[in-house]
Amino acid sequence: MFVHNKRLQYTVRVSAPNPGLANLMLEQFGGPQGELAAAMRYFTQALAEDDPGRKDMLMDIATEELSHLEVIGSIVGMLNKGAKGQMAEGVEAEAELYRSLTGAGNDSHVTQVLYGGGTPLTNSGGVPWSAAYIDTIGEPTADLRSNIAAEARAKIVYERLINITDDPGIKDALKFLMTREIAHQKSFEKALHSLQPNFPQGKLPPVPEFTNVYFSMSQGEGDMRGPWNEGPEWEYVENPQPAVDGGDGMPSVKLATGEKKVVEQMAKRTKSDPSIDPITGADLGSGKAVGGKKKA
Ligand code: MN
Ligand code: MN
Repeated sequence: MFVHNKRLQYTVRVSAPNPGLANLMLEQFGGPQGELAAAMRYFTQALAEDDPGRKDMLMDIATEELSHLEVIGSIVGMLNKGAKGQMAEGVEAEAELYRSLTGAGNDSHVTQVLYGGGTPLTNSGGVPWSAAYIDTIGEPTADLRSNIAAEARAKIVYERLINITDDPGIKDALKFLMTREIAHQKSFEKALHSLQPNFPQGKLPPVPEFTNVYFSMSQGEGDMRGPWNEGPEWEYVENPQPAVDGGDGMPSVKLATGEKKVVEQMAKRTKSDPSIDPITGADLGSGKAVGGKKKA
């Protein structure tokens, strides 16, 4: 169950309303790296998790992400307060109001006009939140890695938001949120490595002859060697020729007699005849008709 606590997880002080900044903050409210995506990612993973340690951790972090959603949403709400009142009450001259919503690079018209200065579940560009932001696959050795990457991306978005904010109270709250994503990343990484082995993911072993091979697939100058393709672990293949399995590289499929018959029938009907070169619409339109060779 969830119980709401009226206090925020972190104290937020906003100096003054700023609808443009509110709009940018929406990135962490309803964006792909935002708090709703994080909360739903870990909440749904927790529901299906059977390991008691991981389940508890996922619920703790999911619930904290909901608290973060409340913090960032409260920031958006407060930054929109002035504009919301002005939009609703129409007390300013039209031009003034228009300027306050769109001036100085302020791109908040969608959230202001369509959503009335509220806290819509969109990203900063007005794109509605989507469950497609969550890439859970139901295997902890893959999902924990994805969670680590999700926390890394959230950290970076917060860093960018901190860099564009001059409000010290918002900067302070964003630094808290950014730091918590680092802490989550650490927990997920520890949880990943408390599960041994965790690489490769899943249960099936890899095919040995292709596991430690590096195929140099790009031709021309500039082949680089480094730990990603060099050293005792790696076999570097300069000119990987198809097929790397030693076969002839030709695809083949066995067809039943009936299937084979219709495939051949279709191939016959759609066969191209290189001896035909008629005048086409393009030839006629160009005024330089060059085709016209009739079938012999
Ligand atoms: Mn968070
Ligand atoms: Mn997090």
